[in-house]
Amino acid sequence: MTDHQNHLAALIELVGEQNVIAESSLVAPYAEEPRRLYDAQPSLVVTPTSVEHVQKVLAWANEHRVAVIPQGGNTGLVGGQVPLDGGEIIISLKKMKNTREVDTASNVMTLEAGVTVLEAQQIAEDNGRLFPLSLGSEGSCQIGGILSTNAGGTAVLAYGNSRDLCMGVEAVLADGRLYNGLSKLRKDNTGYDLKDLLVGAEGTLGIITAASMKLFPRPATFETALLNIENPQAGIDVLEVVRRKSGNKVTSFELLPTLGIDLQLKHNLLDRDPRASVSPWHVLVEYSLFDDEESGALMSTLEALFEAELISDASLCNSIGDRKAMWQMRENFAECQTREAEGIKHDISVAVRDIPELIERGDEMAERVIPGIRSFAFGHAGDGNIHYDFLAPVDMPKGELRSHAAALHEGMYEIVEDLNGSISAEHGIGQMKADLLQQKKDPVALEMMYAVKQSLDPNGILNPGKVLKRRN
Ligand SMILES: Cc1cc2nc3c(=O)[nH]c(=O)nc-3n(C[C@H](O)[C@H](O)[C@H](O)COP(=O)(O)OP(=O)(O)OC[C@H]3O[C@@H](n4cnc5c(N)ncnc54)[C@H](O)[C@@H]3O)c2cc1C
Repeated sequence: MTDHQNHLAALIELVGEQNVIAESSLVAPYAEEPRRLYDAQPSLVVTPTSVEHVQKVLAWANEHRVAVIPQGGNTGLVGGQVPLDGGEIIISLKKMKNTREVDTASNVMTLEAGVTVLEAQQIAEDNGRLFPLSLGSEGSCQIGGILSTNAGGTAVLAYGNSRDLCMGVEAVLADGRLYNGLSKLRKDNTGYDLKDLLVGAEGTLGIITAASMKLFPRPATFETALLNIENPQAGIDVLEVVRRKSGNKVTSFELLPTLGIDLQLKHNLLDRDPRASVSPWHVLVEYSLFDDEESGALMSTLEALFEAELISDASLCNSIGDRKAMWQMRENFAECQTREAEGIKHDISVAVRDIPELIERGDEMAERVIPGIRSFAFGHAGDGNIHYDFLAPVDMPKGELRSHAAALHEGMYEIVEDLNGSISAEHGIGQMKADLLQQKKDPVALEMMYAVKQSLDPNGILNPGKVLKRRN
């Protein structure tokens, strides 16, 4: 029997035929990630339905030194959830969807790894609470996936990223042992924080099977507006006023170049132009108001911003439909680029104060590399996280931009390093940035990471080659 046949037989024995996929046409979709950048194929896909299944599969894989890749909703943008070498076994958590508990008194819900973010939001809503994580992939990405990448999204400013929203995890270790760290405790100082080790590990230290996630009061209303600003520096000045005037009411603050709205109109992604008038840059700002808070807080901030001449115009959402359309416009920022031209992307962060310098230097660098390149820097400015993308010049032949990718990446990451920023703000390292991590991460931090990996996964079966490069 070949290895493939042996593995298939063993896995069927462990989890049942209905939970193993071997047919290549059915396996292929699990290897196809959002940007279609990687084409290595897994040998098999396993879809466990219980923690015991995950334990059995990992104990077997560890004994036989078989590489496994945990997969959630397969929306990751750095190739962490798809094969690197080819021949790995994907363990998809999609069937593990139980709600173990919703404890409204403690404001915690305990969900299995395969529950999607949209479903988690609904479970919270059904219990009169808010689960605030919100991101473009929320219909597909899963609790295990967002924790493993420490995903951010549009409400980090107020509620933090996935790590901040998580109180504890349950995870299966490489040898099949179960770490039960499901906690509802807001205070627990009993040694190393193992939850924080597993969160953001991108499936290289264990497979998360469940997590206890924080719940929050549901806002009674939202006040949302699209502001016109002259440049990114004005955006940072606006943020300061917004913070001062609103306290913790501001829940989102997104910096948007007007090019993104122009392209959405060009490619019929919008029913109508959401801008009050045309301006080079915009800020999408949202306040969340609770029961006993008076409406009109955002309007009062806008008046102060007009008076200080920080904004030139504003479009205020007057209905739930307006708000929905405004957020749809924000989500379309990725799609309009895909429809327009080839692009080069960076998910980076710097201190909020340094965003204007980042954009000024980044634009100059890119123009030097490719005259006429279209800068498309946008995103979670309130968190210092910019999706710094570049679109091919209008007249550039298809395929040519790729030949400049290395120079653009190098230039951009040099600026980020100079500003003490991060080469990955929210998407992670996966296979895409594993080389870059070796170059840019502090050497002592890198050694500590290798030591942790060696200790928890000595046989290197968990997502090998992702995040940390293999050492011979
Ligand atoms: C349209 C779109 C918008 C996005 N917007 C944002 C955004 O605003 N902010 C942001 O941070 N990210 C964003 N992302 C990327 C983001 O990383 C993912 O959407 C999400 O965090 C990944 O979840 P997933 O369930 O799809 O995980 P996958 O893609 O399946 O996996 C991601 C990584 O986690 C590991 N993993 C998955 N499940 C487990 C588990 N149970 N245990 C251990 N490891 C596991 C995988 O091995 C892989 O390394 C976006 C992606 C898309 C396609």
